Amino acid sequence: MATISPAKDVILGSGPAGYTAAIYAARAMLQPILIQGIQPGGQMTITTDVENYPGFADVIQGPWLMEQMQKQAEHVGTRLITDHVSKVELAVWPFRLECDSGDRYLADSVIIATGAQARWLELPSEQKFKGYGVSACATCDGFFYRGKDVLVVGGGNTAVEEALFLTNFASSVTVVHRRDRFRAEKILQDRLFRNPKISVIWNTVLEEVLGEKNPLKVKGIVLRNVNTNAYTERKMDGVFVAIGHNPASEPFTGQLEMKPSGYIKTAPFSTATSVPGVFAAGDVTDDVYRQAVTAAGQGCMAALEAERFLAARGEAEPAVAAE
Ligand code: NAP
Repeated sequence: MATISPAKDVILGSGPAGYTAAIYAARAMLQPILIQGIQPGGQMTITTDVENYPGFADVIQGPWLMEQMQKQAEHVGTRLITDHVSKVELAVWPFRLECDSGDRYLADSVIIATGAQARWLELPSEQKFKGYGVSACATCDGFFYRGKDVLVVGGGNTAVEEALFLTNFASSVTVVHRRDRFRAEKILQDRLFRNPKISVIWNTVLEEVLGEKNPLKVKGIVLRNVNTNAYTERKMDGVFVAIGHNPASEPFTGQLEMKPSGYIKTAPFSTATSVPGVFAAGDVTDDVYRQAVTAAGQGCMAALEAERFLAARGEAEPAVAAE
């Protein structure tokens, strides 16, 4: 049976921003409830080596780091809920949140840390072969391409990291990028250019994924040079799309101020959104830095700001039900 729970602080999302917010909120005695969302642990759970999260001299694994954050959040008193918030009402206070399960929460403060999801090219052929040779996660699917030829689309850190990771399995990795230079960090670019299995095709876009119907299987690709408009066809066994992410801000549309790109707007040097008592942290609001460590920092800020908001409303006041 669906339940209604009052809470001082509800945190949405279980990436570095969500767990850090939970650790700080729990230690501030806000008894936070953290609703984990569809992908517990967030994007870090589909990352392999993490070398830039401070505090670890050795290379660590993304899923391991998220496990540690979850344990730490639970250890200090966070209540974790495996559910996904599909409906919110932020014009009333306490704020109302409804999950896929039907369970509802009446929250005195809300921290949105719902992150972002992989973006697709939206080609009909890409959609057709999604899961059958077209993927947005080399860490998840790279293993299936042992000895095969694969394509990576994109020019950011993700594309370069995915290409490097895929060389562990594939016999050749081709990176296709729409411009004549990468936006990825130089250190990653250096590794990519030094890798004999990787070749790069500049100023080119993927136009179509070719394949067989029965069973669905990728066999090739059609590329278009954006300068000459020339089309080329190549044999290919797999396509990895790594062209960035969309913020998971859909349930808040029309209720919070957002950038045209869908990122939730926050006040300068703050996680405060356009609704007092609602805070946003991590990739759902940050279209600039988008790092695990910056998300964690913003999660900390959000919890501190939620604590101040609640204190200003009268900290001793218990979380109240609206109905
Ligand atoms: P990103 O930096 O936004 O890069 C997206 C890439 O895809 C760009 O090169 C872009 O081209 C290209 N692109 C976008 N739309 C396209 C389209 N429709 N067709 C063809 N190409 C398209 O995204 P990201 O690589 O996923 O990285 C996201 C953030 O996470 C970044 O801040 C990144 O630094 C961070 N990150 C960090 C690490 C790490 O530190 N280890 C690892 C992964 C990601 P243009 O260059 O022409 O715009």
